[in-house]
Amino acid sequence: MSWQINVAVQTPAHSALGDVLSYSSGAPVTPGALVRVPLGRREVLGVAWEVNREDTGPATLELKPIGAVLDALAPLGDAWRDLVAFAARYYQRSLGEIALAALPPQLRDLSAVQLARRLKRKGSGGAPGGVSPSPVTLSAEQTEALSRFEAEAGPFLLFGSTGSGKTEVYLRAVAALLEREPQAQALVMVPEINLTPQLEARFKERFGADSVVSLHSGMTNPQRLASWLAAHSGAARIVLGTRMAVFASMPSLRLIVVDEEHDPSYKQQEGARYSARDLAVWRGRRENAKVILGSATPSLESWHQSRPAAGDDPGGRYVRLSMPLRIGTGALPRVRLVDMNLQPPKTVLSAALLDAIGQRIARGEQSMVFLNRRGYAPVLACADCGWKSECPHCSAYRVFHKIDRTLRCHHCGFTERVPRACPGCGNLDIAPVGRGTERLEEHLGELFAAVRRPDGSAVRIARIDADSTRKQGALESQLAAVHAGEVDVLVGTQMIAKGHDFRRITLVAAINPDGALFSGDFRAPERLFSLLMQSAGRAGRDAAYVSAQGATAEMWIQTHHPQHPLFAALKRHDYPAFAQGELEDRAAAGMPPFAFQALLRADARTQEVAQAFLGAANAAADALPGAEQVTRYPAVPLAIQRVANVERAQMLLESASRAALQRVLAGWQPLLHELRRTPEGKGVIRWLVDVDPHSI
Ligand code: ADP
Ligand code: ZN
Ligand code: ZN
Repeated sequence: MSWQINVAVQTPAHSALGDVLSYSSGAPVTPGALVRVPLGRREVLGVAWEVNREDTGPATLELKPIGAVLDALAPLGDAWRDLVAFAARYYQRSLGEIALAALPPQLRDLSAVQLARRLKRKGSGGAPGGVSPSPVTLSAEQTEALSRFEAEAGPFLLFGSTGSGKTEVYLRAVAALLEREPQAQALVMVPEINLTPQLEARFKERFGADSVVSLHSGMTNPQRLASWLAAHSGAARIVLGTRMAVFASMPSLRLIVVDEEHDPSYKQQEGARYSARDLAVWRGRRENAKVILGSATPSLESWHQSRPAAGDDPGGRYVRLSMPLRIGTGALPRVRLVDMNLQPPKTVLSAALLDAIGQRIARGEQSMVFLNRRGYAPVLACADCGWKSECPHCSAYRVFHKIDRTLRCHHCGFTERVPRACPGCGNLDIAPVGRGTERLEEHLGELFAAVRRPDGSAVRIARIDADSTRKQGALESQLAAVHAGEVDVLVGTQMIAKGHDFRRITLVAAINPDGALFSGDFRAPERLFSLLMQSAGRAGRDAAYVSAQGATAEMWIQTHHPQHPLFAALKRHDYPAFAQGELEDRAAAGMPPFAFQALLRADARTQEVAQAFLGAANAAADALPGAEQVTRYPAVPLAIQRVANVERAQMLLESASRAALQRVLAGWQPLLHELRRTPEGKGVIRWLVDVDPHSI
């Protein structure tokens, strides 16, 4: 007697192999069990997906036998497999790709024996410590939010200002759950765990270090395996992680928190392009776990989904919990707009802003200056012949980094020493155009060279961005310096805008946010608004400190468009007004959340080849069921058309019906695989589908 075991394995992307591969086994295997199976010349890790008894059939005779079953480990549960299957279907990827990506990489390398040994060594983990009582008394808003959370099913959108105490609400919700149900587990997701070590510390402090494990890409493989095993066995009551944690195996999952739910980093931008936030909501429903999405500036999708009933509109599926007030007497910072049209030409920092920063330095307070562009200058140019620092491999300029005198392409990584003279005409006078954080840091240093701190010492200016934090531990030590008050003016990219609980910052300035106002990307204003609100949220977080200083927390914005409605809403900290305006525009234009989108992208050596593939794909979709409900737009080059000598093109699909769009995508997938083998598909290097894309 034998069994046919269908196994999800990691197959090469878009290979002709199906979703699962079949193997034979002389003994039954529990679905969800981890197995090792032969694939080509190798033996690989897989997940047993379906198990069929084959009494007769010669079919199984031709199947290769499975290798070992990793039976020291409990099989992955039905709910987990459903989540993986849903994600694969919805995002148009193979089951094996999602399943294997969801497992810790080290599992792939361990034999059954090694794994068993490993699990034994780990022991039972010991009883998790109790919950420490919260040191704070809840505000009225927090109390109200928590009681509705306990009373209703959700999913919930916790709409709370920066500093309104959302994290305390998460902590209490988790605490109540753990106390009520001895086995229950909670999943808490944050956009970038490296930027929020404070959150980890707060959870460990409240629940004990043993109860909390982390899961994110900054961990070593052994650390990730240990965390994953603790979650899978139930020993870890709380899993704190980035988007990948949405796939953590948690047999007793009862609560999912998605903090800063609007953050773009919840959307994976390569490989399987899933939205961890959306999967969290799906997973919560499947597993009967309550879901809280939290933000001061929710995504327009979640905002719309949590609208109250009105007239004929039954309202959205989510329950909206609002916490508009900051904890304590802390007011949100005053927003000041500087009209750059009224400044002398070439002004980088207006006199009024410099004055405001100078006053803060003199009082020993901190300021944060925010510019979303790293490097010294985005372009190096020759005024004589018009040469510019283009990347030879991309349709983009290489950025000038003064610190090591390089020109670096931020798209393909191509790096060269800055030429001594213009490569075009030999002119020795090639000059940086525009500015990035490095140049801003230098500029501020010059401007404040003569200013003294209260103790008479020189001003200290620091910069935090992807360049300054490349070395392991650099970010932590730079943040620590800010917290310790060793920095007077902090310059940085959006890295410093998010989440940090800086206590002594009383001024935040955005130097040049205008680019996003008129971007071709319809989500750009939404992202800008949330980034500016987040940045503003860094100022005046400690009400007691601000009032003791006799200071006012301020957010400065330098703009050429002070009349723009986005800034008007920002001045009033009025996210609802901003959201309403944007949603009206989106509704009128039939864009998300009133429509659903997907992109088909093709990469090739030439734009013609990429577009020809998309054209053929478009034609192939004509006959698909549901096609009449889906608008297909013509192929266009990507905004950055060429990267690393690869030409990129995409076409957009849009529908008012998510189901119709899904139907078309499902029918399209096999046709696309076939197309790849036709003359139109020959020169295509890769193609991919992006469902609910973030930028188009
Ligand atoms: P958010 O996550 O909304 O930005 P936090 O939860 O980080 O806000 O709260 C901001 C600050 O206020 C933190 O230092 C936190 O410890 C404190 N805090 C939160 N809730 C309370 C409360 N009820 N009483 C006193 N302090 C609180
Ligand atoms: Zn020149
Ligand atoms: Zn390049």
